Amino acid sequence: VITRLPDPRLGVRVVHSTGIYCRADCPARPNPANTGVLASVAAAESAGYRACLRCRSDRLPVVRVDQSQHEQVARALDLICDGFLDHHREADLAARLGYSSRHLRRLFLDAVAATPSHVARSRRAHFARLLLDETDLPVTQIAYAAGFRSLRRMNEVMHATFGFTPTQLRNTRARGEHNAVDGGLRLRLYVDRSYDFDGYVASLSTTAISGLEVVDGRRYRRAVSVCGHPGVVELDSPSPRRVDVVAHLPALEGLVDVVSRCRRVLGLDRTADSPPGVWSTFEAAVVAAARAHCDDPDRTLERLVRRHGQPVPGAADVGITHVFPTPERLATVRSSSTSGLSRQAAAAIRELATAELVATSTHAPWPAHLSAA
Ligand SMILES: [Zn+2]
Repeated sequence: VITRLPDPRLGVRVVHSTGIYCRADCPARPNPANTGVLASVAAAESAGYRACLRCRSDRLPVVRVDQSQHEQVARALDLICDGFLDHHREADLAARLGYSSRHLRRLFLDAVAATPSHVARSRRAHFARLLLDETDLPVTQIAYAAGFRSLRRMNEVMHATFGFTPTQLRNTRARGEHNAVDGGLRLRLYVDRSYDFDGYVASLSTTAISGLEVVDGRRYRRAVSVCGHPGVVELDSPSPRRVDVVAHLPALEGLVDVVSRCRRVLGLDRTADSPPGVWSTFEAAVVAAARAHCDDPDRTLERLVRRHGQPVPGAADVGITHVFPTPERLATVRSSSTSGLSRQAAAAIRELATAELVATSTHAPWPAHLSAA
């Protein structure tokens, strides 16, 4: 499916003669007669192309969409980013969005030239490669953190995606390119030089909820919950082509989704001019309800988080005290004059929380044998 793209920044160059896909600015200059363009990294990988070791095209976003043009695909990608396809089939994703499987596939093929399942698979594989490159975590733990069901499955997918096993990929990384796991797990995300990190952080500072998130100079911090355990993530940009995620988490399970959410908040998988994304659609809806129906929404949201959110131990000195409240907690929230939560806002929030509980209760449970590992 070789296509000409309206915006070449959104695609990757593939070289038929070598079976490799490259960044637009790769120093390798193949004969143009042997090259084409595919709409995304996921498209190149599902067509059997492998990432270039020279320009490190594996560091490109797996897919990048223009939200205004492909709104439905962007919504589906948000769910994939939340790990939906780790526990569900493509048909369930379509049903959740109110489409037929066939229609969803067609939307994806139009926008990114890959199916939702291919996008999910590439996403896991790239995240595992990031952990192999950037950390000293054992390969078995990486399989778990990236959402693979077994080590064997990770080996198969990594070999099919990159042409190397996880152990081979780890052995090829450059000396000094990785970080020890101390003071948080630091992961480097590579971005275009034109990416405006400071602009995103400035924009996040105007909406930050005190206690839940903090902007401190050029650093954004936020309380997160992974499988019910509180933690903190920090985002900063030590150089123009890098955004670092530092994760202070009690467990690696679900790390792939935390990093996906960081990418979404920073608009890393969208076109350049898109606004910051939301950490979670539920949280964004609750915030919107408070802003629509309360006199002093900033203060009300701060109180709501302090009163109903799970406490985060040991982070008060950086201004982080609580995780955003769960739908379970907010399903019974009452109006309160001390926090300024109006009757109307409380009713809207209860309704949102109940809807969220119904939507998530149809999720298949995480298999018990994996939770024990
Ligand atoms: Zn290349």
